[in-house]
Amino acid sequence: MSSLDTFAAQKLASLDAKHLRRTLVDTAREDGIWLVRGGRRLLSFSCNDYLNFTQNSAVQEAAIAAIRAHGVGAGASRLVTGNHPLFAVLETKLAKLKDTEAACVFGSGYLANLGIVSGLVGRNDLVLVDELSHSCILAGAALSGGKLLAFRHNDVAHAEELLKAHRGSHRHVLIATDGVFSMDGDLAPLHELAALARAYDAWLLSDDAHGIGVVGGGRGSSFVQGRKADVDLQMGTLSKAIGGCGGYLCASQPVIDLIKTRARTLVYSTGLPPASVAGAIAAIDLIERDPNHAAKPLRKAKGFTARLGLPEAQSPIVPIIIGDTEETLKASRMLEDEGFLVAAIRPPTVAPGTSRLRITFTAAHPDAEIERLASIIGERILKRPL
Ligand SMILES: *Cc1c(COP(=O)(O)O)cnc(C)c1O
Repeated sequence: MSSLDTFAAQKLASLDAKHLRRTLVDTAREDGIWLVRGGRRLLSFSCNDYLNFTQNSAVQEAAIAAIRAHGVGAGASRLVTGNHPLFAVLETKLAKLKDTEAACVFGSGYLANLGIVSGLVGRNDLVLVDELSHSCILAGAALSGGKLLAFRHNDVAHAEELLKAHRGSHRHVLIATDGVFSMDGDLAPLHELAALARAYDAWLLSDDAHGIGVVGGGRGSSFVQGRKADVDLQMGTLSKAIGGCGGYLCASQPVIDLIKTRARTLVYSTGLPPASVAGAIAAIDLIERDPNHAAKPLRKAKGFTARLGLPEAQSPIVPIIIGDTEETLKASRMLEDEGFLVAAIRPPTVAPGTSRLRITFTAAHPDAEIERLASIIGERILKRPL
């Protein structure tokens, strides 16, 4: 064995011992909620396809038509020849949905944050993140070379303490947070963070990967409290409720113009395929036309939390925190035996000791199946008298 193979084998053995090794499992998704794994048909409570748009016929037809009109791939970076005309249509729609002057579409949400954070932040700057923020915000901060500090989850007072101590010694400060937290399903206090950003001349970025399409009337986490939160940088993904692939930033015109010339993941990576852009355009049209559809996943999540006496769901994501990793894997396998796919989420995705089942609701989940899932979780996992 080469030293590389030895390194890999030892690393894998140590992950196995801690129940932290991950493997890919062939999964054929039949429709918005049913999938087939290992020959078994399972009802998925683990997809982020909140509005079931991956299988929506209008979205699919738009994607197919775009392939015929513009080809399968973009052929180059957007700044070279990859900027097919659908990008401008999608960016106009995103800016309108998010009430900003302009927007920029990236290859994925992960690439968006890598490019945005490293495009705006430099060596003498500070990135202040909520401790539960998504991995790609942290990766963007690392790529930027700026200083990274984390504040306690949703703790605005702690963020202010850090600003008091560190604002003076940095040129620019970026405060970054998930708008809807991907593993906890709760919302960031965006109004309070925006006020803090104004008071300390900091810039605020919210990652709305799990907000667009499903909270705030479909417009996302900046719009949940009636009044729009003053977030400078609203980023998100086209791969969850929007049903396809890609990422975006909505912001002011000068910021978007700067990002389009500076963000490395935009400049040096091939543009999104026409099909993905056209599918996203169709999906946003559907959200605008039918806000009632956009409200369904959250309504179903709230029904589930009410049924189990859990804190009321704030988004379509509901965590059942078990703690121990092996116990969490066992619970996930037990639910699979009952015909449900509910992924076990383990460190390092979540903090050690907080392994959990992460349940996501989509518009198409039948209420009777949600009821059956709730009673099994109540009886066998939470061990609650019902
Ligand atoms: C999924 C996710 C991303 C990454 O988006 P992709 O388009 O899948 O790369 C970024 N941020 C958060 C909070 C996410 O949940």
